[in-house]
Amino acid sequence: MLIDVHAHLDFPQFDADRDAVVERANAEDVIIINSGLGTTGIRKTLELAEKYDNVYATLGSTPTEFDLKELDASIELIRQNREKILGIGEVGLDYYWVKDEEKRKQEAVNFRRFIELSKELRLPLVIHSRDAEEDLLRILKENNVKALLHCFGGDAKQAASAAAEGHLISIPANIQNSKQKQSVAKAVPLESLVLETDAPYLSPVSKTRNEPVNVKQTAKKIAEIKGIDYASVEAATTANAKRFFNLAFR
Ligand SMILES: [Zn+2]
Repeated sequence: MLIDVHAHLDFPQFDADRDAVVERANAEDVIIINSGLGTTGIRKTLELAEKYDNVYATLGSTPTEFDLKELDASIELIRQNREKILGIGEVGLDYYWVKDEEKRKQEAVNFRRFIELSKELRLPLVIHSRDAEEDLLRILKENNVKALLHCFGGDAKQAASAAAEGHLISIPANIQNSKQKQSVAKAVPLESLVLETDAPYLSPVSKTRNEPVNVKQTAKKIAEIKGIDYASVEAATTANAKRFFNLAFR
């Protein structure tokens, strides 16, 4: 069994053939954790988790959401559905799309609300960080939170030190062509790695749609980079994800 810790199957890119995509993952024993963002994404993600046995939910909000009413509504939906979800996320900081200092401060304020929510609900945090690794890791440290860092964008040294601090580093499917992801996977010990697709994004073949079954390719690539066998990568990344999300199945 493999676990795709981060996908967006609720996105319209999957409207035409969602059943087939989920079935392809199921046929290869791939568990999917779908990340629902904002009130619309949250509702759709809860439906998917209800409908498919191999789909689970984390719920959050994109860091670039500045509509406070929408943010409040998302937080309320997360509270109401506490028992149906594995974690909170993705949430975090995005400095790639947000350059304005005031808006970046607002991102941090919003992010802290989700940290508080994760403590209140006792659910783990799945983090989105883009060009904001330093601030993000500092805020997590200040709050004494160990999180899952989705699609980690920092360098190998930053990744290794984040892993040493107790965070999980998630490797996406585009590791096939990304030197940065390859060096991160090499630097981080197996005990701190998990797999994701971020489907429909970050495909192993650029300009194509990504899907959860591609975590298999990621596991193979990590095995090759680390010079170990595929089964070790499968066992470790699955155990890491289960432990983090408190998943008790199988
Ligand atoms: Zn994502």
